[in-house]
Formats: sequence, C-alpha cells, structure tokens
Amino acid sequence: MTDVTLTVHRATDQIGGNCIEIATQRGRVLLDVGRPLDAPGGATGLLPKSLDLVAPVDGVLISHPHQDHYGLLEETPAQWPVFCGEATAALIKLTSGIFGVPIERDFRRWQSGETLAVGPFSVMPYLTDHSAFDAHMLLIEVGGKRIFYSGDFRIHGRKSKLVERIMAEPPSDIDVLLMEGTNLGSDKPSMSEGDLEADFVSLFRETKGRVFVAWSAQNIDRTVTLYRACLKTGRTLVVDLYTAEVLEKLAAFGKLPQPDWSAMKVVVTSAFARMYRRKGEEAFVARMVPHGMSAKKLAADPEKWVVMVRPSLVRDYEPAGVRPNSDDAWCWSMWRGYLKNEDGVRLQEWFERGGARAAHIHTSGHASPSDLRAFAKSLNPRCMVPIHGVAWDAEVDGFPPIQRLRDGEPLVI
Ligand SMILES: [Zn+2]
Ligand SMILES: [Zn+2]
Repeated sequence: MTDVTLTVHRATDQIGGNCIEIATQRGRVLLDVGRPLDAPGGATGLLPKSLDLVAPVDGVLISHPHQDHYGLLEETPAQWPVFCGEATAALIKLTSGIFGVPIERDFRRWQSGETLAVGPFSVMPYLTDHSAFDAHMLLIEVGGKRIFYSGDFRIHGRKSKLVERIMAEPPSDIDVLLMEGTNLGSDKPSMSEGDLEADFVSLFRETKGRVFVAWSAQNIDRTVTLYRACLKTGRTLVVDLYTAEVLEKLAAFGKLPQPDWSAMKVVVTSAFARMYRRKGEEAFVARMVPHGMSAKKLAADPEKWVVMVRPSLVRDYEPAGVRPNSDDAWCWSMWRGYLKNEDGVRLQEWFERGGARAAHIHTSGHASPSDLRAFAKSLNPRCMVPIHGVAWDAEVDGFPPIQRLRDGEPLVI
C-alpha cells in the first residue's frame, strides 16, 4: 500500500489562508491556496515556504470563492490544473476582473455529488452551506485512505439542509477529517437567515426614512434575506453595479433576485460606471440602465428604499446629495470586527454625523461551536486535524480524537 501524506502548509492556527497538500508516491493535490486574511493588500510572495513549487501537482481544488481560500492561485505555477464548482469559477473570474488582475487560467468544473478523477485521487464534492455561494466540502480518496475536508461551512444558512443530509448519511470509513473551527472560542451570532429576515422586516417597518445596509455582494443568502424583507414591507432593494453583476452571473445557478425584478433597483453611480467602462464593460452598464436609478433619486420617497452602502459608495452618494438624517437607519450586516477597520470607522462616522439610527443584524457564515461538534461526531473519523481556527487548543472536548499539526508538518496517514 502506498503512503499517503497530509500536510497543512497553512491554517493550523489561523482563520483562513488555507493551503493543504495530500500526497502519495504517485501524485499530489492541493486543497485551496488561500491568501492569509491579515496579509497587507498588494503583498506578494505569500505562498507557504514548505510548499514545493517544483514537483508537479495533479490539481488545485478550490473549495469556495473566498479570498482566504483561492487568493494565492495566481502565485502558483500556471501549469497546475485548477478544479472548482462552476459558480465558483464564475465568481472568481468576475471579482478578479473588477477589483484586481483578471485571472486568465483555465478552471475545470466539478458537479456536486459526482466523483471526479484528479490523477490518482478520487474526489467527491459536496455542495455545502456557507456565506459564500457554491461552497463545497470534499471527500478525497487515494491509496486506500479517505480524507474529508469540511471547507468553510455552517448549518444555519439557507442551505443548511445540505449539511444535515451529509450528517444523516455520512460517508463511511473516514481516516482523517480536516475540520474548520472559525467560531470556536467566540460568541458570534448563529441565528438562521429566516430569523434575520424577521429582524429586517421590523427594522424596515420601524424606520420612517431610508434604511442603509452594509453587506457583502457575494453573500447571496443575505441578498435574498434583504430582498424578501423588502417584498414583505413594500420597499425596494437598491444594489450597486457590482452586486447586480454578481446576481446576473449567478442567475443560471438558482432562483436569485435579479436586477429586473420588481423590488430591486440598481444605483448607477459615476465612479462604478466609469470603472466598468474602463474595463470595456459598457454593454453591462447599458443593460443595467433600464433597471437603474441615479443616487439623486434616493432623496425622494425615502420610505421606499433599502440602500446598499459601503465606503466606496459613500464617495458617490455624497456629491449626489445623499446624506443620512435622523429619519434614516443604518445596519451593519457583516462581522462586527470589520467595523473597527478604517473603512468601517469612516462609515460609522458618516451615519453618526447625520443622526441615523444604528442596528446590527447579522449571522455568522460559519458553524457554531455546538454545530461543529455535532458535525464532527456524525462523520466519526479515525482522527481529526483542526484547521481554520484560533482556539483549537482550548476546545478539544467533544470532538473525535484530535491530531494537532503545525503548519508544514507532514502526517503519514
Ligand atoms: Zn475561510
Ligand atoms: Zn469562506
């Protein structure tokens, strides 16, 4: 029997920046090549030093389209084949094209529930519930060993049933469970998106003026939650061009709110429109104009609008005369920690100056500590390798037997 070696090059003691290698004498695959969340913008040369860049790789498997899982892809040799879900490929290409350098390399797409062969490895992707669209868990089989990678997941989002299904009928004989633990040692909220929807409905009803909401354009569950709350309260969800493009690109993958739906409008701001035109995407801007509105319109009928906000949009809203006032409310619908960043502080000040009422309505993209334990227990692996967390050392109780590794330390399975 061949030896199977597992090396977590990065993420044994931090959240994100995942880079994991499974190798045998016959080949190797990587699970994610993420950018560390604390890496300074624009920094390069961030691939873990323990990762061999010379020996061939059969596949880089990208679990989902979050930077901390794919952000160093362009630093890996171009001949390494990349595999991911179809929507993941679309989102990565879209985001890199708009905000950075376009990723030109070819992505091979997998289908959830269909086994694919990657060199000597057999890979089974499972669509999962996470704040990123098209997130997957992966079962990798090689040399008679079975390794299950949780990727990032939760059990309280709009796709929770997918994870419950895996737990009800778990794959058998798992040798190693590579398990994320983002929310260990934290008390981040983990209510359902349905609960959030009810909170938004109340906020929209209680507010006389506009409700500004800061959320991630790629958190599709949240966009759906906001759209549904708008429908229930007779408001219109105003999104920016980037969010509209994300929704348009994902239309093929599910019934998601679209720019031409009745309770949605696209705010066509000058800076964003300029940027799209510079990237040669005039056609997209032109396509959005019939469903669009100028920021100036947000001054009239304030009780109608739920408006997407973030610092870059404020720069466009200000000159159009959009300024928060005491009739308005604003809601931070992301992790509270981001509010302490320079951008978050500036946004908060903008609303405080105007006297808008503040709300924080959010739920984590990751499983609660009790859900993590329940998931690990149901998989019943021979051993578990903790990753993507900062509190694993204090939180081993209630988990299957743990094999604690350091970054770059190989484990022969
Ligand atoms: Zn992550
Ligand atoms: Zn993620």
